[in-house]
Order: sequence, then structure tokens, then C-alpha cells
Amino acid sequence: MLDKVVIANRGEIALRILRACKELGIKTVAVHSTADHTLKHVRLADESVCIGPPSSMDSYLNVPAIISAAEVTDAMGIHPGYGFLSENADFAERVEQSGFRFIGPKADTIRMMGDKVEAIKAMKLAGVPTVPGSDGPLGDDDETNLHLGRKVGYPVIIKAAGGGGGRGMRVVHSEATLLQAITMTRTEAATAFNNDVVYMEKFLENPRHVEIQVLADEHGNAIHLGERDCSMQRRHQKVVEEAPAPGITKSLRAEIGERCAKACQDIGYVGAGTFEFLYENDEFYFIEMNTRVQVEHPVTEMITGVDIVREQLRIASGEPLAYKQKDIKIRGHAIECRINAEDARTFIPSPGKVTAYHAPGGIGVRVDSHLYTGYCVPPHYDSMIGKLITYGEDRSTAIARMRIALDEMVIEGIRNNIALHRDIIRDANFEAGGTNIHYLEKKLDL
Ligand code: ADP
Repeated sequence: MLDKVVIANRGEIALRILRACKELGIKTVAVHSTADHTLKHVRLADESVCIGPPSSMDSYLNVPAIISAAEVTDAMGIHPGYGFLSENADFAERVEQSGFRFIGPKADTIRMMGDKVEAIKAMKLAGVPTVPGSDGPLGDDDETNLHLGRKVGYPVIIKAAGGGGGRGMRVVHSEATLLQAITMTRTEAATAFNNDVVYMEKFLENPRHVEIQVLADEHGNAIHLGERDCSMQRRHQKVVEEAPAPGITKSLRAEIGERCAKACQDIGYVGAGTFEFLYENDEFYFIEMNTRVQVEHPVTEMITGVDIVREQLRIASGEPLAYKQKDIKIRGHAIECRINAEDARTFIPSPGKVTAYHAPGGIGVRVDSHLYTGYCVPPHYDSMIGKLITYGEDRSTAIARMRIALDEMVIEGIRNNIALHRDIIRDANFEAGGTNIHYLEKKLDL
């Protein structure tokens, strides 16, 4: 087992990783910027190392500083969390070359999944359903592209192979603007991602976002932990997530889940990962794979009882998966609300000092947050300050508990989005279940 791990992240996920390490008897090293010495996990870690000034570029993205911290503390592994360097193949490679374990998949796997054309190709080969489209990069021949557009059927979406974070995409509603859209996306992609490869997909008009959680070890074992529905989004950012996804049958879950697990074996995937799909008219369409732990992993933990971060640490230590597929039983329902330091209506970030903090509690309530009274939310990073998760035997119990928990939660001194969550959780269409990815933005416009 790894005996000491550097936590190369901050906030709630750093605390989450610290807790899993402690449970396994792994010593922890917190690396932090000068703005973050008051973070809860920094105080709880066995050791801490300051890796640079507040700006992420100089600290949490500062590869030499993070590797040096691992060296001086004699750590064995580095856990990247999510965001920052978690999906940076060059970082994973540098970590391994420096003699440490990168707690995630191999650098080559991260690289392949970072190129969407390559990722889609690999998934097709493994039998995972993808969005109908160009089957690879678009060429320069106008006639061929126009023919392809007609074949796929409008609307279509032109996407950059190197795109991410909702950038590098353009929806095309008719043939008249196709060629121009291809040229524009290609030019933008060359500048933004240093990769001018673009491809075409059918644009699905009212899909839901449904994703499958997988775990795979280096001994060729792979399992899935069912799905999550993350359709409640604003500007491609997930706001509320839940598991299981409303309306997905046991047999549909087993079918898509098993395909994802098999795909992991086919590509030699190692670690925790997520297959993201658009889901429309009972069909799954793969869009991308995330090669790291996700913000919303707790909802899966609540309904399966599997500690995903502990499994990541065990897998990185070379151990076989602790579970077989038949051991995974989905029970009850879980919902997660992302609590952000931002105005509930304008979404303007609101850093500053938390003058009072009261976390909710009771049966089926989980709070993953680094907040405490007196903590000062710095302005330099993502505005997420915690996640409120509720569990119930069924969806309506999970919703009822979320309502109560949101009403109980108090964060004073900074603005936060608890009021938005109160509104969503009482929304009749959310209560009915199965709203699509455009629902929240449409609701907010009213
Ligand atoms: P990124 O890596 O930038 O997040 P994705 O491929 O995951 O890019 O797509 C981001 C979002 O764009 C999706 O969640 C969805 O809302 C929209 N999108 C992408 N592809 C399609 C498609 N073929 N049809 C409809 N919407 C799409």
C-alpha cells in the first residue's frame, strides 16, 4: 500500500482525499498556495508544503513545485483530485518518471481520452454507442462535408477534437452555414487548443446528461457502479446531480454499464473513471470520458456503499478491486447540491469571510465541505465551497431530506446559492424527474 500521498488539490476534494488516506493508514502531505494555509485539510494533514503564490498557474498547476514537494517529503504517490492537473497527461507522465505513483490512469490513456476523436474511435471499437456523425476528423473537401451534413441530418454540431470545458463547439442548423462553421471552429481550435482537428456530430436537441461510473484495476478487472443524472446544468456546469437517473431501468443500466466496463478492459484503463453520455429517447450516446474522480462521485457512493476515493488509492497501490460486479447492489436514491460562494440570482462570485457556518445533519445527510466559521474564501479559485448530499430509500425521501437540509444550512458573511437550490428542489418538474440539460437555463430566464 502507498504509505504517503501528496494531495495536489484544495478545498473539499483535498479534504475528501485526506479522509480516505487516513482511513487506509496512509500519511498525507497537503500542498497549498500562500492564499490557502488556512484550509481545513492543510491543518489536518501530517505535513504541508507551500508550493507558490495564490495564482493557480504558480501553485496548483506548478508541476516542478508539486514534484519537489513529493521529493522533500518522501511521498510515494500524488492524488490530483479533479480540475487543475488531474487530466494533464504530461503531468501524469512527469510524476511517474520522477518515481512516484500518479493516482489515476496511465498517461497514454489520459492523452487518448483528451483527444475526442481518438476517444470516440476507441469507444466505437469497444462497442460503446456514440453520436452519429463524421466517424473521425473532417477533411477539407467542401463537397464531402456537405454530403456528410445531409447524411447526418440537421442540426449538426461541429466540435474540436482538443476542446474542453464547453469550448470549441458550434451548432449548425442548415446547410447554408455548414462550411463557414467548419472553417471558424477549425481556426478557433488551432489557436485555443493547438489542434485544428474538428469533427461532426448530430446535434441532439433535448438530451439528458447521464454518466456511468467505472472502476478498473491493473489486473484486468473492471466494474461499473451504475449511472448518475447530471442534467441540471447552467453554462455546461452541473448544479444538481442524482443517482440513479430517473427512469433508467435495471436492464438498461446493466447493458450500458457492462459495455463501459468492457471498454475499460479493452483500452487497459486503470483507476476510477466516468463515461459521459447524452441520453435521448431511451438511447445512450457517448460524448467523452473523464479520467479522474468527479465532483458528483458521492451520490454513487451513497447508493452503492463503495468508497470511490479509497478504491482509487487501493488500485494505485496495485491491489485488485475489492468488488466484483455481482457485489454491486444499487439501493435507494441520492441527490447532491453544489454549494457555491456566488449570488443565487446573478451568479457573481462572492469570496470573503464566513462569519457563521452551520452544517445540516440528521439521517441520510452528508456534507462534503472545507468550510468553518471564520474561514475566508479566497477569490483566486473555483467558487464551489461544498456539496450537500442527501440519501433516502427512494427519490422522494432523498428530496424531502434535501429540502430540510437546505433550510437548516446557514452560511453567513458571503453570498451563496442555497436559495437557488431551495427553488430547484421544490420545482415540480424536478420532482417529477427526468428534466433535460436545457431545463435549468430556461427556468432561470423566466
Ligand atoms: P466539453 O469537453 O467541452 O465539456 P462535451 O463533448 O462534453 O465537451 O460537450 C459539452 C456539452 O455540449 C454537452 O454536455 C452538451 O450539453 C453539449 N453537446 C455536446 N455534443 C452535443 C451533441 N452532439 N448534441 C447536443 N449537445 C451536445
